[in-house]
Amino acid sequence: MSAHTKNLFDITNKRIAITGGAGVLCGQMSAELARQGAKVAVIDFNIQAAQALAGQIKKDGGTAVAVHANVLEKEAVEKSLAATLDAFGGVDVLINGAGGNRKEATCSAPATFFDLPADAIRWVFDLNCLGTILPSQVFGKHLAQQDAGSIINISSMNAFRPLTNIAAYSAAKAAVSNFTQWLAVYMAQRHSKNVRVNAIAPGFFLTEQNRFLLTDEKTGQPTPRGRTIIEHTPMGRYGQPEELVGTIQWLISDAARFVTGVVVPVDGGFSAFSGV
Ligand code: NAD
Repeated sequence: MSAHTKNLFDITNKRIAITGGAGVLCGQMSAELARQGAKVAVIDFNIQAAQALAGQIKKDGGTAVAVHANVLEKEAVEKSLAATLDAFGGVDVLINGAGGNRKEATCSAPATFFDLPADAIRWVFDLNCLGTILPSQVFGKHLAQQDAGSIINISSMNAFRPLTNIAAYSAAKAAVSNFTQWLAVYMAQRHSKNVRVNAIAPGFFLTEQNRFLLTDEKTGQPTPRGRTIIEHTPMGRYGQPEELVGTIQWLISDAARFVTGVVVPVDGGFSAFSGV
């Protein structure tokens, strides 16, 4: 390997702001990116969890700061940018990790699509769409002004083809993928050819947001849906949260410096398999 190739994926001292950074998937990302030498602002409205994680990262020799913000309030997001700049003197990367689904916006045996309450549907759209767009406005403006940086959104498998039952979440993540492409083009054409915008689309990872769908609450056994997912994942298992980090690191690093506007599946082959 040439010296050049060896450094291609280097993210040492990259200043990364990650919303929802204290969650299951993004918590792992925060910790692992810090282990790779990045400085991480863990932005979350669960400040206790963010502080605990930032504390652990520092204990492990990394650099992190916990920042409180609700991604649905622009003023709060602006304060989180200021806090990140204060802590690290700049910011290079925004990861829009805050997102998720809600049981009340999901079809189930008693609840048909026709019954889903507007409030629950709006909650899912707000968190995933607006919660990606507002931080992209605030941090994106800063990246555009400095003419460098990168934004990474978290989409989902259901953005490629909707998954049964999760009507609102599928539509909301499809919007996140669409917005990723839109913003990539807008940034490059209007503001900076050096600000890239991409997304990852995780396949199936067992976390708090989907545990009620994949595991029987009483017995802990896989639900029929959980079994179907494994059967349709050629690699035959759920992903481990740390398995998202390599793709994120690639997208952040110079190795992806000509990559913008893509949504990369990290899914054990789920999206490639027709089921036959
Ligand atoms: P999680 O629920 O464990 O973490 C989400 C974090 O976001 C939490 O720490 C929460 O406090 C924070 N948060 C929620 N609302 C917020 C708000 N308004 N402002 C600030 N912070 C807020 O979720 P996760 O499973 O780690 O998912 C992370 C991302 O990956 C989400 O966008 C999710 O939709 C996506 N995703 C998850 C899966 C999966 O299998 N778990 C699959 C595909 C995509």
